[in-house]
Amino acid sequence: MSGRILVVGGAGYIGSHTVKHLGRSGFTPTTLDNLCTGFRDAVVAGDFLHADLLDREALQRVFSRNSYDAVVHFAAHAYVGESVTDPRKYYNNNVVGTLNLLHAMLDAGVKNLVFSSTCATYGEPTVIPISEEAAQHPINPYGQTKLVMEHAMRDYASAYGLNTVSLRYFNAAGADPEGVLRERHDPETHLIPLVLEEAARVLRGGDPHATKLKLFGTDYPTRDGSCIRDYIHVQDLASAHVAALKALLAGTCAGFEAFNLSTEKGVSVLELIEGARKITGADFRYTEFPRRAGDPPELVGSAAKARTVLGWTPEWSSLETILETAWRSFPR
Ligand code: UDP
Repeated sequence: MSGRILVVGGAGYIGSHTVKHLGRSGFTPTTLDNLCTGFRDAVVAGDFLHADLLDREALQRVFSRNSYDAVVHFAAHAYVGESVTDPRKYYNNNVVGTLNLLHAMLDAGVKNLVFSSTCATYGEPTVIPISEEAAQHPINPYGQTKLVMEHAMRDYASAYGLNTVSLRYFNAAGADPEGVLRERHDPETHLIPLVLEEAARVLRGGDPHATKLKLFGTDYPTRDGSCIRDYIHVQDLASAHVAALKALLAGTCAGFEAFNLSTEKGVSVLELIEGARKITGADFRYTEFPRRAGDPPELVGSAAKARTVLGWTPEWSSLETILETAWRSFPR
C-alpha cells in the first residue's frame, strides 16, 4: 500500500522510528515538527516542514499546498511530572495544538488520523491486563489531555466523518535495531535510559557507590515491591502505526477506534535493573527512594484487539531485545 502521510512530531523518539518504517513500507512520509524536543537529523525518510501546531496559518498553508491521504500525530508534551506542575503547557500544546490540527485537516478534507494516545488515560486500573473497554480516569494532566482529545475525535467521527485510530502506548522502549535512531530526551526521566547511563558511567570507571540511579518505590503491592510496567519496543510501535494506516486507508477501521499497544507481560523495575546488568556487564547500583507521585503500581495491557483487528504482533519486545537495542545505540 502507498500514500502521502503527514507525520506531525516525526522528529521525536517514536515519530522518527515510525517515519523510517513508513518509508520502508511504501508510504511517502512528510514530517512536520517544531523541534522543541525533536531532532532534525532523526528524520531519515521524506521531507521536513518546520512548523508549530499553535500556528494555525502555517498549518493551513501546509494543507493547502500539499495533499495527504492521512495524518499521524505524535507531537505532544509527555512528561507526567511536568504536566502536574505546568498543566497550562500541556493543555495548550496537547489540546489546543491538536484541535488546530484536526480543524486544518477537516478544512482540507483529510479524514484519516492515527493518534498517539497512552495507557495514562486509564489512571489506576482495577483489572490487569487492561482492555480498551476499561474505565478511563487519568490521574495526571498529561493523561487528561490525551483523553480529552480522544473524546473530541469520537465526537468528530460522528459529526464530521473523521476516522481516527487512537493507539494507547504502554511504556515505549528500545531503539532502532539498525542503530540509526535512539531515545533522546532532555531532561531524561525514563527508566531505561537512566539505567543505561548508570551502567555506562560505571563502565567508564565511575564509582558504583556514587550511583545516580534512583529506584522510586519499594513498597508497592507487587511481586518484588517495585512498579510493574509493560515495555513495548519502539520498532513494534512503528509497525503498529503502519498497520493502523493500512486499516484506515483500506476502510477496515472507520469512525473512532482505540487499541492498546502492549506486550501483556509486566516487568518490574528491579527485574529491568537485573536485565540491564546482564546486557551491559556493568555491576551498577541504585538508591532506594520513596514512590514517585502519580505512578500506578502496575500497568499491563491486553493487546488482543490490535492482534485481531490490525493483525499486529510485537516482535521486538522481549526485555532482552529492548535492552540490547537500547544499549547498542547508547552513547558511551
Ligand atoms: N523509575 C525509577 N527511577 C527512575 C525513573 C523511573 O524507579 O529514575 C520507575 C518509575 O517509578 C516507574 C518505572 O520506573 O515505575 C517506569 O518509569 P518511566 O518514567 O520510565 O515511565 P512511565 O511509566 O512513567 O511512563
